[in-house]
Amino acid sequence: MGINETSWDAEYDVVVVGSGAGGMTSALCAKQQGLSAIVVDKDKLFGGTSAVSGGGIWIPNNHDIARNGGSDSFEEALTYLKHLIGDATPVEKLEAYLKAAPEMVKYIAAHFDLPYHSVVKYPDYYSDAPGGKAGWRSMEPFELDAAQLGADYDLMRAAYPGTMLMGRISMNQVEAHKLFSRGPGWMWLMTKMFARYWTDFSWRRKTPRDRRLTLGQALVARLRIAMKKASIPLQLETGMESLIEENGKVVGVVVNQRGRRLRYRARRGVMLACGGFESNQQMREQYLPHPTSSAWTAAPPINHGDGIRAGQKLGAALKHMGLVWGSPTVKKPGVSQQITLFVERGMPGCVAINQEGRRFVNEAAAYPDFLDAMYADQARGNHAAPCWLVFDATFRYKYPMGIFLPGQIEPDSKLPKDWLDKVYYRADSLTGLAAKIGVDAGELAKTVAAMNQYAASGVDSQFGKGNTPIDRYYSDPSVKPNTCLGPIAKAPFYAVKLDAGDIGTKGGLVTDVHARVLREDGHVIEGLYATGNTTAAVMGPKYPGAGATLGPAMTFGYIGAMHMANAAVDVKPAVAVAA
Ligand code: FAD
Repeated sequence: MGINETSWDAEYDVVVVGSGAGGMTSALCAKQQGLSAIVVDKDKLFGGTSAVSGGGIWIPNNHDIARNGGSDSFEEALTYLKHLIGDATPVEKLEAYLKAAPEMVKYIAAHFDLPYHSVVKYPDYYSDAPGGKAGWRSMEPFELDAAQLGADYDLMRAAYPGTMLMGRISMNQVEAHKLFSRGPGWMWLMTKMFARYWTDFSWRRKTPRDRRLTLGQALVARLRIAMKKASIPLQLETGMESLIEENGKVVGVVVNQRGRRLRYRARRGVMLACGGFESNQQMREQYLPHPTSSAWTAAPPINHGDGIRAGQKLGAALKHMGLVWGSPTVKKPGVSQQITLFVERGMPGCVAINQEGRRFVNEAAAYPDFLDAMYADQARGNHAAPCWLVFDATFRYKYPMGIFLPGQIEPDSKLPKDWLDKVYYRADSLTGLAAKIGVDAGELAKTVAAMNQYAASGVDSQFGKGNTPIDRYYSDPSVKPNTCLGPIAKAPFYAVKLDAGDIGTKGGLVTDVHARVLREDGHVIEGLYATGNTTAAVMGPKYPGAGATLGPAMTFGYIGAMHMANAAVDVKPAVAVAA
């Protein structure tokens, strides 16, 4: 349909593109500061990747730390980030994040009924590094009754079955930790969770989805409810096609609303919060290490780099385009997105091998490091993208493994028959398993023998599995001497293929300390702001702790909104500094 290029179809102070956590936070903050705002999203559902996420945010020096008996400071957090990130991000940008993030958390709790609490035992991913902490910095949202969303419940992107018990029952982070690592009382907890879900007859008559919203569902639902209270319009199936620039300033967007092209004016600014490019195969091939496939991402197929390319057309600088928020993923038939292996690898009795049958990584490493190791091994001439996770009958019985629950709850006999030797591989001997997955049997035998020695001594002299707090966070405390190491000895033996996946991309538009998009020459593009995976990640090549993607997405959404409203946010210093 044609478009009148001289008139506006609607006018707002702020037009936010994308209804993930970054976008909705930004719209809410702008409205709270007295500006008018709208959120547009090209999808039929709101919430983006944020809705299927764990909802965790990594907020050093947050208000809840002291209440939980911990301590933290701006200086310690800065030491940690500088140590990890080096000069990949200017220090001023790190400071801006660390200054504003705890303020943002207090602000959203106070104004939008979106309280977060510290997950006390969740360690930073490098808690032994200078300034690292063994807990407290990762926060999770308080749960919520889905009934509060009313009719909008059906428009919210549903949680992944993989993040729910039996694919249906909601868990929070603390519960998930207890269940996966078989902490004290895990059986009782599971029974209670089942009972609560199955006896909620009135709700289950409406939908099999759980009434109890936790993790990313709680985050996105609370943001949506706050938007409704603040009368901020949300327009779905309304995708941004391009930015409108006048005299070097962004003044609006062209959107496509179910085939109708409309021009929305943004008097103060456009906030691009429309995710990364994980579902754009062409961009993946152009920018990411190979092999790469949009089929391997665990993010929903909604983000195609639209915001990045729209900014690029206006001369915006790009950075970190070769990086992803990495994680190994597995394919489960009948499930549209791949499942991330955040936790399973840390359990005792498994080993990750390349196609040559050799180990190449500490299985329990933080998921981004596991992904980096896959590509590093590939670059050495081996074949680790994809790789295999091999485990024995004891592991299968006790622990989950991406595509299935522990055999104790979901035995092989309950799995679809045609999965065997296609989705997972099983054999009575390691030699038989090696033949099925095309790996050298001698090398696999040597690898497993070495792992069994490490399990007996408790010391993995090759890759140090179980040495760090994050390794041990998801492990089995009942296994000694090393909670991450157990023998791979009891037949049958199993293998599952792990793809070089991600939970989103990291590269994008370079922004300054106020979330303003910068040109190649370092100058600001007036009127254009960005946050989340549309931007070059403030965390650069690292993943400091759980919540290090949503934390910045929401914080820079907040900072950008405040800047558009001319409200003071202490981001120290108040000058533009590139990402
Ligand atoms: P999104 O939340 O994906 O939102 C982008 C929105 O923009 C989408 O709704 C999309 O439809 C819309 N859009 C795209 N193009 C257009 C267009 N042209 N016009 C209009 N709208 C458009 N991170 C954490 O920090 N903590 C966690 O606990 C965590 N857990 C995770 C668990 C899983 C299983 C996965 C997959 C990811 C997890 N992540 C987590 C990562 C995190 O969810 C993402 O990095 C984050 O949600 C990205 O936020 P965003 O606002 O940039 O994008």
